Amino acid sequence: MKVIKTINEMRKLTIEMSGTVGFIPTMGYLHHGHLSLVRLAKKKNDHVVVSIFVNPKQFQPNEDFASYPRDTEKDLQLLQDANIDAVFLPNVSEMYPENFATYITIESLSKKLEGKSRPGHFQGVATIVAKLFNIIQPQQAYFGQKDAQQVVIMKKMVSDLQFPVEIVVGPTIREQDGLAMSSRNVYLSEKERKEATILFQSLKLAEELIRKGERNPVSVKKEMNDFIKKSVGVVDYISLADPDTLDEVENIKKNTLVSLAVFFGKTRLIDNIVVHSV
Ligand code: AMP
Repeated sequence: MKVIKTINEMRKLTIEMSGTVGFIPTMGYLHHGHLSLVRLAKKKNDHVVVSIFVNPKQFQPNEDFASYPRDTEKDLQLLQDANIDAVFLPNVSEMYPENFATYITIESLSKKLEGKSRPGHFQGVATIVAKLFNIIQPQQAYFGQKDAQQVVIMKKMVSDLQFPVEIVVGPTIREQDGLAMSSRNVYLSEKERKEATILFQSLKLAEELIRKGERNPVSVKKEMNDFIKKSVGVVDYISLADPDTLDEVENIKKNTLVSLAVFFGKTRLIDNIVVHSV
């Protein structure tokens, strides 16, 4: 496995790799969610490249860029064991030299849900992913359903800007008790970690209500909110939205993206499921 730190070196390898390249962008501190994407990519491609880059442009000034968990040595070991071709591990000045001035904005979609709570987040995501696509030139790029809005936005960017990249989505990988795996789970105290299962449980509650015939999103949100209030979690938002447009639904008719963000102390966790109402 090659560990590559510069854009020039990465470009050289891009040119050398014959056949298809599957690419997984990450911010490191890898867990089974990331590794599940690596496995998917390996099955379908001749070469697999993973990037590890904690992207400052997708964090707001009040967010956790500085404290975001990092363990490059362990990440490299996990990727070595997964038998991939290369890890792209640039530093911040390599990706954003001082005079950097070009950004990608996906209008409308970026302002909803996560974007409402984290203004500028998706501009940072889109800009770094576009740069990485240009450097690595993959045929397929793998993203987790865990970040449902990110998937929708990546598909839109690729389609609007004619990137010759297929966006492949992997399912959300969870701990045994249902908590979605996330690098940020490490921030949780023991009590918060136990109570963080409330996110997935509240999603399952929504699913059950909809399966039983509830069609009013306001009622579903209220039930979820009341349920979460029993924990130390503080709701940032609960949404029932169209999975493609991310617009809030007024009536639950078909597939609904049920998503939420909840604070446990300073730690902000997100999760989602798509409920298919019949
Ligand atoms: P991150 O390192 O958090 O930026 O995540 C890198 C990629 O891994 C993104 O496409 C995420 O959606 C995906 N990912 C993160 N957590 C999970 C999970 N629990 N299950 C599946 N994919 C995930």
